[in-house]
Amino acid sequence: EQDVNEYRKSLAIHVSGFDVPKSVKTFEDCGFSTQIMGAIKKQGYEKPTSIQCQALPVVLSGRDIIGIAKTGSGKTAAFVLPMIVHIMDQPELRIEEGPIGVICAPTRELAHQIYLEAKKFAKSYGIRVSAVYGGMSKLEQYRELKAGCEVVVATPGRLIDMLKMKALTMTRATYLVLDEADRMFDLGFEPQVRSIVGQIRPDRQTLLFSATMPRKVEKLAREILTDPIRVTVGEVG
Ligand code: ADP
Ligand code: MG
Repeated sequence: EQDVNEYRKSLAIHVSGFDVPKSVKTFEDCGFSTQIMGAIKKQGYEKPTSIQCQALPVVLSGRDIIGIAKTGSGKTAAFVLPMIVHIMDQPELRIEEGPIGVICAPTRELAHQIYLEAKKFAKSYGIRVSAVYGGMSKLEQYRELKAGCEVVVATPGRLIDMLKMKALTMTRATYLVLDEADRMFDLGFEPQVRSIVGQIRPDRQTLLFSATMPRKVEKLAREILTDPIRVTVGEVG
């Protein structure tokens, strides 16, 4: 009895916000191109996870989102797939410079994982993904960014370094993801995160994911998101 209740709690989904787009049951419901569908199948993803069912239509509609779900719930694809659609929707992709999608993650390991996932879906579209995090040569990263990319996946500190070195400009950035926001704050990256957000045009689409919502993260969300839809999966703090 106890176990069944625990299980139900772990599956509970709570959605709040104005004009919430209808959730999807399948990836086909998302209207993805055959190319993206092919990449999804190649990953072995048969159907969207709980957070993906709610988050994909929200993000695809262009709305801001707060996604609260614990590790392993499939958050990466929930922001990477709509990002590919968002980038492909941009007119005259190659004329301006700098990334369109900016993804911040707390650690180099996480940034690297997101980079790999993004590359799988971006590759066939010629979307260039760069990873920027500590422990790698700054000069090499500078050169890679200078060569151009549509997506940058970064830890906040190193992204700030690259911005200071003028390795990239944020003028083209319209899709911002803060992944594991609570951990970024735990690691002391709040000032860097705020500085990055401040350098991206306010009419961007903003996605904030976190396993928990401490008061500081809640405050940031209030300040940087516009009419967000909040999707909570499971019993999370
Ligand atoms: P989170 O960021 O929420 O911790 P991840 O995005 O890292 O979760 O995904 C956790 C695991 O689930 C990864 O191995 C990922 O490849 C896999 N996964 C994601 N979405 C699906 C899906 N729809 N079907 C099956 N596996 C999935
Ligand atoms: Mg994750």
